[in-house]
Amino acid sequence: MKTKQQMQQESKQLKKTLLFHNTIMSEIRKKYQNVDNRKARQLISKLVAGKILKKYHLVTMAKKEFGFSTKLIRTNMTRADKLKYNNIKHQYLSLRALKEKIDEDSIVLQIDFAENYMCKFSNDIQAVHFGDSHQQVSLHTGVAHTKNGVVSVCTISSSMRHDPSAIWAHLKKVLPYLKQQNTAATTLHVISDGPTTQYRSKNNFFFLSKVPYELGFKKVTWNFLEAGHGKGPADGIGAAVKRQADSLVAKGIDLPTGKVLYEQLLNQQSTVKLMYITEGEIEEMDSLLPDDLLTIKGTMQIHQIVSTRPEEISWRVLSCFCADPHPCQCFGLKKVNILGAQNMETALGSPSSSTLTSTSQPIIDLHEGLIGSWCVVRYDGDPYPGIIQDVDPEGCALVRTMSHIGKKQVILAYERRCYLVPARRCDQAGPRASTSNKEACDGGANSLERNMLCS
Ligand SMILES: [Zn+2]
Repeated sequence: MKTKQQMQQESKQLKKTLLFHNTIMSEIRKKYQNVDNRKARQLISKLVAGKILKKYHLVTMAKKEFGFSTKLIRTNMTRADKLKYNNIKHQYLSLRALKEKIDEDSIVLQIDFAENYMCKFSNDIQAVHFGDSHQQVSLHTGVAHTKNGVVSVCTISSSMRHDPSAIWAHLKKVLPYLKQQNTAATTLHVISDGPTTQYRSKNNFFFLSKVPYELGFKKVTWNFLEAGHGKGPADGIGAAVKRQADSLVAKGIDLPTGKVLYEQLLNQQSTVKLMYITEGEIEEMDSLLPDDLLTIKGTMQIHQIVSTRPEEISWRVLSCFCADPHPCQCFGLKKVNILGAQNMETALGSPSSSTLTSTSQPIIDLHEGLIGSWCVVRYDGDPYPGIIQDVDPEGCALVRTMSHIGKKQVILAYERRCYLVPARRCDQAGPRASTSNKEACDGGANSLERNMLCS
C-alpha cells in the first residue's frame, strides 16, 4: 500500500510533468505557425511526431547500456567514432531483437569473465587487501535467454587461464546444461565482447565450429559487441557470486581455494547455476587444437561468426538475423576455412583484396555501416566497382570508383556522388549506385532486404 504522502508526491510529479509537456507543446505550436521555410516546418513536425524523442530515447539507452556518452554525438565526431557508434548501435539493436524474439529452437547466451575472486580466510580479512599468498579464482559468467526463461550461470575455476581453451572448458559444462533444459534448441547464439586474445581469435573460432555440434547444436553464431561498451549482465552475476562468498567468510567460513568456494556456494540458496572447471579439463581442450590454424585477416572488423556445418565458419562486419533461422548473405558474409584452404587469401582479407563475386547483393538501404564497403556503380550503362566513402540520410552515397589507366592498370580514381536507384528515383544528373545482382537475402520471401552490398 502506498502511503498518503507518497500518493500526494506522485500526483504533484504528474502535474509538474503535464504542465511541462503542455508548455513545450504550445511552444512548438507557436513556432510552427511562425516559420515560413519548409525545412524548419518539417523539423518541427518530426519533433511532434516523436521521431526526435525516439532518437533521444535510443541515445539515452545506448548511454545506459554501453556507457557511451551522448556528448560524443553532439560534438563533432570523427569518421572512426561515427562508425564505432553506428556499430555499437547496430549490434545492440540486432542482439536485443534476437533476445526478444527467442523461440524454442534457439538459445542466446551472453558470456563474459567477471573479475577474479580472491580467496579469503575468515580470520584475516585484513590480509586480503594485500593479496599476498591468496589464491585467485576465475569466474566465467553467462546469461542464457531461452523460450523457458532467463538462466544465469557462473563457472568457477582455480585456473587463471582466460584463453579460448579455458573459455570452451567453461562452455562445455554450461552448454549441455542449457541443452538439457531446452531439448528442442538446435541453434546457439553467443554474445561476447571482443578483446582479440580471448573471444576474437582463431582458436575460439575453431572451437565454436566444433564443440557445439558435438553437443547436439546444428547452427552457431558468435556475436561481438564493440569494444568499449559499458557494464554487461555478466558483471551483475559476478558481483552476486562474490557477495555471497563474502557473506560466507563473514560467517566464519574459510574459502582457501576455488574448489572450496564452489562447494560452499552450492550449499547456499542462489538463482545462479554454479559449475566447477578443473585445470585438467582446460588442458583437455588444448589437446583438441590443431597447431596449423589459419589467422583471419582483419579480425578486428569481425562482429559476427556464423557456422552452419562442423569446422566451417563465415564472418561479417556486423551481425544479421534478418532471415533467421535461414542464413542470409547481408554485410558481405564471407566463408573461411581456418583449417587451411588454398584460396584463403582471396576469400578473406581486407575489402581491398576481396573480389567481385556472384554473391553481391543489391543495396536497398544506405546506412553508415556500408562506409568502406565495395559496391558497383552504374554510369552510362557501364558498371564501375568502387568503395563507399560516405552516405547521407537522403540516400546519396559518395563512392570512389575504379578507373583504367592505360590498358592494364586500374586505380581507385574518381569520387562520384551516387543516388540509390531502386529505392527512389534519381532526378539529379550523375552515376547511380545500382544493383549488380537481383538476388536478395537467400533467406526467402520474408527476409527484410535492408543491407545488401556488393562484396
Ligand atoms: Zn541479413
